[in-house]
Amino acid sequence: MSLARRTALAGVSSALRAQATRRSPASALVASRLLSTSTVCAHPHNARHEHQGKPATRGYATAGAKDVDPYAGGPSALNKAVHMFFISEIMRGMWLVLEQFFRPPYTIMYPFEKGPLSPRFRGEHALRRYPSGEERCIACKLCEAICPAQAITIESEARADGSRKTTKYDIDMIKCIYCGFCQEACPVDAIVETQNQEFATETREELLYNKEKLLSNGDRMEAEIAANLHSEHVYR
Ligand code: SF4
Ligand code: SF4
Repeated sequence: MSLARRTALAGVSSALRAQATRRSPASALVASRLLSTSTVCAHPHNARHEHQGKPATRGYATAGAKDVDPYAGGPSALNKAVHMFFISEIMRGMWLVLEQFFRPPYTIMYPFEKGPLSPRFRGEHALRRYPSGEERCIACKLCEAICPAQAITIESEARADGSRKTTKYDIDMIKCIYCGFCQEACPVDAIVETQNQEFATETREELLYNKEKLLSNGDRMEAEIAANLHSEHVYR
């Protein structure tokens, strides 16, 4: 370490200690500990001394027995001066801002613009019909049994031909956790979750869906539901 650097470090240490002592005893203690645990020493190069019972270190941090100059390999003074003169960091930052200015924005103007949704998106529920208009649901109650939130309530009766149909199909959309188990369990793709996610209401009662509401959802979104199910059929 050069004499000038040692002198400067000794001066900084003394100034820090004096300044901390003026402020408060606690600050003085913290400053003293920080300086005493630092690997940088302000003592004369060849002085005998110890730091907290450990062998003394020299002005620079040591690696093994050799001195390591932390400034070696860094930019030269001329290099730094050139960067400061031409404010290159500021220019690079401004160039980055300029690039972003001409890029298409990452944000969209929702609800006027909408991002893409996966065909597997699990949104508002719907009950489907066959093209003939007949309800698909056969009242097997698998969806009711599998629903972990117990949000589905079904009541059923027998048709004239012996098959079954629901007389009541309620879903409490507040209880629903949109897990999609009901859709997976249904053997006839009757109950499905559509891609509609915009069904917020002002009252809690409006989220208690009955069979009529679910069937009307299915009638309204059948084309989209069928297309999504078709795109996923290879994975099911
Ligand atoms: S999505 Fe899950 S929680 Fe919601 S009704 Fe279906 S099974 Fe129940
Ligand atoms: S919606 Fe599907 S799973 Fe649920 S009762 Fe009807 S047929 Fe069975």
